[in-house]
Amino acid sequence: MRLNGPKDNVLVSVIHLGKFFQNIFLRVNNGFLRWRKGTYDTNTMMILLPRCLQHSACTQNVVEESDNCKRCGRCPVGDVVEVGRRQGTRVLTATGGLMAREYVRRYQPRLIIAVACENELLAGMFKVFPRPVYALINSRPHGPCKDTQINPDEVEKVICMFTPLEVDNKKK
Ligand code: SF4
Repeated sequence: MRLNGPKDNVLVSVIHLGKFFQNIFLRVNNGFLRWRKGTYDTNTMMILLPRCLQHSACTQNVVEESDNCKRCGRCPVGDVVEVGRRQGTRVLTATGGLMAREYVRRYQPRLIIAVACENELLAGMFKVFPRPVYALINSRPHGPCKDTQINPDEVEKVICMFTPLEVDNKKK
């Protein structure tokens, strides 16, 4: 990790806080976004997935193009791609922080729904600040960076939470 400014110093401090405080930090971030009640068209959001969500034995190149996923059901990527298709939201898989940042630079999403481990979420969040990032922590039943999991319904719930219709209903 290259350090080159005050933002990086804060990031290093937060990453060294340990999982418990990282979790709290991410919850506060998500709570703040919900409290702010911003609305976004679904096509201005971006779902960002980590490479480790893809099944380790899968040979489909979903990093270059999520439509290459065959939706075979062995990993959550297929169902998340389906959520993106249904909601009109771009789904991208990144092999690391650099690629994730390149996606953000290229597509300029107004809201990023990012799936990753606590460290990666925090690092990414600081790197793209002040762009809003809603953080979804993946589960790691096989250890870190291998066949990680996320519930696709949770991803869809977040999209719906920030769409104008849902926010209007909450205001009533
Ligand atoms: S759902 Fe897609 S990414 Fe996952 S194993 Fe099947 S083809 Fe590969």
